[in-house]
Amino acid sequence: MPDKASVLACSRCGRMFQYSGFGPVCCSSCREFDDTEFGKVRAYLDENGTATAYEISQATGVTEKTIRRYLTESRLEIPEGSPIFIQCTVCGCDIRSGKYCMDCAKRLSSELQGAYMSFAGDKAKTVNENTGRMHITKKRD
Ligand SMILES: [Zn+2]
Ligand SMILES: [Zn+2]
Repeated sequence: MPDKASVLACSRCGRMFQYSGFGPVCCSSCREFDDTEFGKVRAYLDENGTATAYEISQATGVTEKTIRRYLTESRLEIPEGSPIFIQCTVCGCDIRSGKYCMDCAKRLSSELQGAYMSFAGDKAKTVNENTGRMHITKKRD
């Protein structure tokens, strides 16, 4: 029996598959297909320098949606000097790769860090209280 926690539905074709625990949630055949598509896009850009999502899509047959996904996954990047941008999903400003602009990425990571630290603090406090109670019980015995 495979571990149920690591059997997931492929995000592309919906088929159940054994997830290896890293990378995109895609079954092996979709991942292979994805890599081939990405290979086409990369080869086209290697040859042509820069191109719009539309141009790449026309030349390679890869959908613009997929090309945009490569951008948000930071697999593709919009080069310096290009008039094309994608938008930061938090503040909507222009970025060239990924999901967040530098400012939002910095703010998000520091917010996450803060949340983690306050959670760890609460946890530590709870543990101490429990230790205290255990002492009292032991004394009674
Ligand atoms: Zn699949
Ligand atoms: Zn932003």
